[in-house]
Amino acid sequence: MFHKTEIIQIHELSVQLTWKSNVRMMRVRVLPPDGIIRATAPRWTSRKAVIEFLSERYEWMQKAVQKVQSRPRPTSLNYSEGEQVLLFGTPYTLHIQTVLSKEKAHVSLDASSITLHLEPEASREKRAALLQTFYKERLSMVVAVYMNDYQTKLNCAPIPFRILRRKSVWGTYNVRNRSIIFNLALAQAPLECVQYVVLHEMTHQYVHAHNAEFYQRMSALMPDWKQRRKALKAMVM
Ligand SMILES: [Zn+2]
Repeated sequence: MFHKTEIIQIHELSVQLTWKSNVRMMRVRVLPPDGIIRATAPRWTSRKAVIEFLSERYEWMQKAVQKVQSRPRPTSLNYSEGEQVLLFGTPYTLHIQTVLSKEKAHVSLDASSITLHLEPEASREKRAALLQTFYKERLSMVVAVYMNDYQTKLNCAPIPFRILRRKSVWGTYNVRNRSIIFNLALAQAPLECVQYVVLHEMTHQYVHAHNAEFYQRMSALMPDWKQRRKALKAMVM
């Protein structure tokens, strides 16, 4: 397969452009979390056509980079007082409170904030771990509700699931033991994205590949799955 990469400069933006033999159209994407711009073009596209294509999208790229870079990032979080964290796509202000001597560490939630209650001077790791536990509980509840709903609609047996940290996938369907793993980072994604991943993984019990039949089955129960997938792609894992 033909594959050649070059950096194309459009004003202040650097675009990583790859010419490929197996693509039919020019395409540009802005990738989270850093806002790296990647474009692909069919092998025989001229440089001039590429620059024209990217220049037309200059404002869109600028905005997309800003949007991606302004999102709260789990890796840069300090889990300290006043920081913004996401729960199902909504930003909340993080508060840190000290628990009384015999009280257990726990998390509370209200309309605009998430409060971590833990021992005095708990480390960043401890604060992060407590928030992750909270995310896991919330995500488990939401996933269970969606799975239940689709089990009824698909008339299938319950599928056991687990929630784990994953670096590159939102979900995995395991054919051998008929189970699903969901990425813990989904707790930060909007609910419609979580629901999309649930149905996507459940659909794999019938169709292994991402082919026409697979997407037909998706569309039957979720006509707007494409928009949901798009929103999910913009998320930081
Ligand atoms: Zn899949």
